Amino acid sequence: MTRYAHRPLTAARTYSHGLRLVPPTTETCTDDGGIDWIAVERAATGDYDPTLLNLDERWAATHLLLAAGLGEPAIAERLATNKRQIHRWRHTDYRPSQRPRPAQTVSPCGTDAAYRRHQRRGEPIDDACRDGMREHWQQQRNRLKAAA
Ligand SMILES: [Zn+2]
Repeated sequence: MTRYAHRPLTAARTYSHGLRLVPPTTETCTDDGGIDWIAVERAATGDYDPTLLNLDERWAATHLLLAAGLGEPAIAERLATNKRQIHRWRHTDYRPSQRPRPAQTVSPCGTDAAYRRHQRRGEPIDDACRDGMREHWQQQRNRLKAAA
């Protein structure tokens, strides 16, 4: 699902090489720092160097061209990128800069990562972490003793 699909569409703003490009009305270059829609439109129509677009803009141009009926190879050529990238973007409904990050895993109490996290945040050290560290240090001492 692209973010354009549920937006009111403008009348055709651009005719070029038989392409009908329909950028979202509500987003022009002023209300969106990440995407310069004028540049996107011009690059999509072959009127602007696509290598000057940032990733978000190329992603947007890809969706404009897909909506206009172009195939992936033609879009790849026009946007100076490769077909695999176009294919990925076709199925990506968020901007490259807004790619969801996997949730950070938080080390459970009792590990030295958790102990260091408590220290870093100035949190009190709970029993699990205190015991975990004691064990950690004990193992360190044993290792040193064994190595000696
Ligand atoms: Zn803890």
